[in-house]
Amino acid sequence: MLNVPPQAFPAPSSQQRVAAGGRAKVPLKPGRSLMDWIRLTKSGQDLTGLKGRLIEVTEDELAKHNKKEDCWICIRGLVYNVTPYMEYHPGGEDELMKAAGTDGTDLFDQVHRWVNYESMLKECLVGRMAVKPIAAPKGMLPENKVLGASAKDLTPSYDWFQTDNLVTIVIYTKQKDMNAELVIVDCQDKRLRGEIVMGDHSYLVEIDLDHAVQEDMAVNIAEKVGKVEIVLKKKDNIHWKMLGQSLKSHNAFIKRTDRGLFYRKCKLVSKKEVTHDTKLFCLVLPKSTHLRVPTGQHVYLKQNIAGTEVVKPYTPVLPFLPLDFKEPSHHDGAHIYLMIKIYSCGLFTQALDHLQIGDYISVSNPEGNFKKSQVQTSEDLFLLAAGTGFTPMVKLLNFALTEVSCLWAVKLIFFNKTEDDILWRNQLEQLALKDERFEVQFILSQPTKDWVGKQGKISSSLLSEFVKRSRKDSKVLICICGPTPFTEQGVQYLKDLGYSQEEIHAFTA
Ligand code: FAD
Ligand code: NAP
Repeated sequence: MLNVPPQAFPAPSSQQRVAAGGRAKVPLKPGRSLMDWIRLTKSGQDLTGLKGRLIEVTEDELAKHNKKEDCWICIRGLVYNVTPYMEYHPGGEDELMKAAGTDGTDLFDQVHRWVNYESMLKECLVGRMAVKPIAAPKGMLPENKVLGASAKDLTPSYDWFQTDNLVTIVIYTKQKDMNAELVIVDCQDKRLRGEIVMGDHSYLVEIDLDHAVQEDMAVNIAEKVGKVEIVLKKKDNIHWKMLGQSLKSHNAFIKRTDRGLFYRKCKLVSKKEVTHDTKLFCLVLPKSTHLRVPTGQHVYLKQNIAGTEVVKPYTPVLPFLPLDFKEPSHHDGAHIYLMIKIYSCGLFTQALDHLQIGDYISVSNPEGNFKKSQVQTSEDLFLLAAGTGFTPMVKLLNFALTEVSCLWAVKLIFFNKTEDDILWRNQLEQLALKDERFEVQFILSQPTKDWVGKQGKISSSLLSEFVKRSRKDSKVLICICGPTPFTEQGVQYLKDLGYSQEEIHAFTA
């Protein structure tokens, strides 16, 4: 099914060789790709040296396994023998060795919390820690940084009531300015999960409902008072004696990074060509899901590839660039549009390209550290994008032109290899004609001789030519996204040109 040449993979430019989030990546030896690892885990080899036994590991025992040739790491209370994985780790052996013989949970969360290690390392599982070395047990109340008062008073709470045919769960967030993007609700097979995002924490209602409910539900938000109502329709109009059984993380207000990623299955409803190698995928959320991906955030897609769950991030876009920015564009909220480049040797994108209309794929809750407030006060907005690094700029552009009243000018500087690679070129050019605040500059690194536009790669001179304040003291925001080295170089050039850290936002994993 997969087009994965075993020797040439990953190619020198592969993302498996290129750091996400600015970490140095080490070239993998031939035969050490993710696909090769998946093959090894399916080979039946004993990868723990314990012949399939699972053991209880003490801290002293864990500490003994701290060498490359005998390396155990604990992640969330489970201990893995990572020695067989060393040569396959895209971040290199030294990165893994940082956690050798210790609890690597924090390090793992900092770098790639979204990687599905349970699936990737399942054949390396040695056992469970005798005493869990996790610092803060999940569900404990954190200091309430969001609201700046005592945690107990301001921790959200919930209540419920019923009528003949409805069950309503009311969450009192005690936070003003609640909005639809901060509320994520899923109700699948009697299991209700409602997450309220509050800064870097979130509150969760997670219940195995007492009785079945219908597929469609409503979420009502009283923004000013921070009240969220989840309205479920009973399947049978009977009186419920209780709401249901609380699940593991129910009623917990904890750091978002301490929650695992939650996925729901979305149906692929359309797939349209954008360029020769890039497609616009449209996924529809289940009726029983309420989820809005905020501007500048990404989701993770999860697919089972050759028996292993593989996860990759993608940034939702709009179905098209709205040309009339006078009114905020209305989205039904049920559809997620993803603009994805299909790499001929790409493990994940090849599998994505093989999905048929009607197939399902798992989509996570949104993540990302971009805040709309960064744009809200800017007068000059510069968007530096390379290739599919254009994707976060789509919603950002829409938001800036629609909702930022002080905005004077938005300039997109779009780096591509060839003219054929430019995403939504027509739409961008039309928008530039229509809205005088918007300007687009295409820069090609590998143009044909017919190209009369700008040529080159990101450089200090190109940036000083195109990134200029419209007034001496205008408030500037520069957003940058593309291959990691592009982004890192761009940030450095901008700093050298005198822009401050606060004036730059780099999109990374
Ligand atoms: P891999 O298996 O990682 O790479 C395989 C092959 O792909 C390589 O052999 C190489 O030939 C080719 N390849 C990979 N990267 C490059 C490159 N930069 N230049 C040239 N060749 C390359 N991608 C999107 O298309 N749309 C998005 O909206 C999007 N959003 C993202 C958001 C975030 C936060 C991040 C970190 C990444 C995003 N990506 C996006 C990239 C995406 O996550 C995958 O890395 C990408 O789809 C490649 O996955 P793959 O498994 O197919 O390729
Ligand atoms: P691409 O077509 O390979 O490259 C686009 C442009 O960037 C080309 O002009 C290319 O020039 C240039 N470029 C590539 N690597 C460079 C480098 N190391 N230094 C300077 N310029 C470089 O790009 P792509 O395949 O679409 O890849 C897009 C990237 O964006 C992926 O890495 C993806 O992960 C990332 N992305 C990140 C996010 C996020 O939110 N973090 C979102 C979407 C996409 P050359 O001719 O020299 O190659």
